[in-house]
Amino acid sequence: MSQGLVTASYIVAAVLFIMSLAGLSKQESAKAGNWYGVAGMAIALLATIFNPEVTGLGWIIVAMAIGAAIGIRFALKVEMTEMPELIAILHSFVGLAAVFVGYNTYMDHGDLSGAMLNIHNTEIFLGVFIGAVTFTGSIVAFGKLRGLVSSKPLTLPHRHKLNLLAVVVSAFLLIWFVQVEGSTFPLLVMTLIALAFGWHLVASIGGADMPVVISMLNSYSGWAAAAAGFMLSNDLLIVTGALVGSSGAILSYIMCRAMNRSFISVIAGGFGSDGTAASSEEEEGEYTEVNAEDVAEMLKGSSSVIITPGYGMAVAQAQYPVAELVSKLRAAGVKVRFGIHPVAGRLPGHMNVLLAEAKVPYDVVLEMDEINDDFDDTDTVLVIGANDTVNPAASEDPASPIAGMPVLEVWKAQQVVVFKRSMNTGYAGVQNPLFFRENSVMLFGDAKDSVDNILRAL
Ligand code: NDP
Repeated sequence: MSQGLVTASYIVAAVLFIMSLAGLSKQESAKAGNWYGVAGMAIALLATIFNPEVTGLGWIIVAMAIGAAIGIRFALKVEMTEMPELIAILHSFVGLAAVFVGYNTYMDHGDLSGAMLNIHNTEIFLGVFIGAVTFTGSIVAFGKLRGLVSSKPLTLPHRHKLNLLAVVVSAFLLIWFVQVEGSTFPLLVMTLIALAFGWHLVASIGGADMPVVISMLNSYSGWAAAAAGFMLSNDLLIVTGALVGSSGAILSYIMCRAMNRSFISVIAGGFGSDGTAASSEEEEGEYTEVNAEDVAEMLKGSSSVIITPGYGMAVAQAQYPVAELVSKLRAAGVKVRFGIHPVAGRLPGHMNVLLAEAKVPYDVVLEMDEINDDFDDTDTVLVIGANDTVNPAASEDPASPIAGMPVLEVWKAQQVVVFKRSMNTGYAGVQNPLFFRENSVMLFGDAKDSVDNILRAL
């Protein structure tokens, strides 16, 4: 393949990646967006491995075959509820790859000298730094999501000063590294500091901020890839890395806004701690339990229903009976809509994917901002496996650990049915006063079984 053809393929791939991002921004075009991404990546891979500068094609193909086999196996096996963990571990690979590319380029920098060598060394240093932070940060995020590490934030004394120290010392090491024209010692020390920094940065972020951490690591992995692109002088890797880096940063910003948190305060960590657990204890009181037949009666007497799904719907895989319930109610003339919180579930867009999978019509699936004013005029709200995202303490109790997070204001409806298995808290570990409100009732059990039972009773 000629160099000109490689460049042309890279441009086509970059355009396809941009079209992919545009497609993924809407449910209706998300499938097409995925295909654009797949096509772009296939072109990028072919153009890269058949680039005239590439040697050892046999080894590359063997490595790709092994990687593809592992990737396909995991993609087929992974449950929807495990997607965030998979994404976190994949980010760690990008970070590790950037570290390896950095060291490889460091050992083999050709005959550069003067300003070009300084620029090259700076690229290496920054690439390894971002890659190492992404690597350990993603491993900790994986551990937290998998339950291998506590989801509570690690609050070491002087943790902010420790983070600042890591950045300042790394900056001095960069100057040293560039001035002595690539001495190994500062690079090695910085790598160790960056590994510890990435680990500490994510370990000190609490469970409730994990969505932001995931997209933040997504952004870091993009910048790590862009840095690797600079080191390898690969334009497509720079463009792709920048696209991933900036879209991850934009998503993090949108999520911070959805949780009413500043980006800096998320990075600074500590949120989701148990420091204010006492206030949630005081909220506990009497709750009313109902059965599926009672809920069926409530639904028969309702003319408007809003369903607010959460993580429990994903765990129970209740989206199919939920979709059936929706069509049954709609056929009976009931106005049924969904209210989706931006961080419901364990992945941005988690609920939308499940509902799309169960073929729920897009036009009845509304975002939190679109539906929050309508709860006042709603007869029945079905809270199916959601907890933190419908917690009134977020808007009413300034002492709550989730105070200020915008939530679905379900308690404003005439009656609220909460589907869950126990009185356990949600992901943020905060008790929910909604369960003890006069207009709330609890339907205990696995969400799928509960919805199936309601369907039978209707
Ligand atoms: P929560 O995690 O707050 O609550 C889940 C609820 O589902 C609990 O009440 C649980 O209660 C119930 N549940 C679990 N399994 C079942 C089941 N099989 N059947 C019925 N109920 C079940 O969910 P939300 O979606 O409201 O909130 C998401 C939380 O996750 C937020 O704190 C968010 O910050 C965080 N997060 C979000 C991410 C994202 O990108 N969306 C990523 C990472 C974290 P019980 O155990 O009693 O059944």
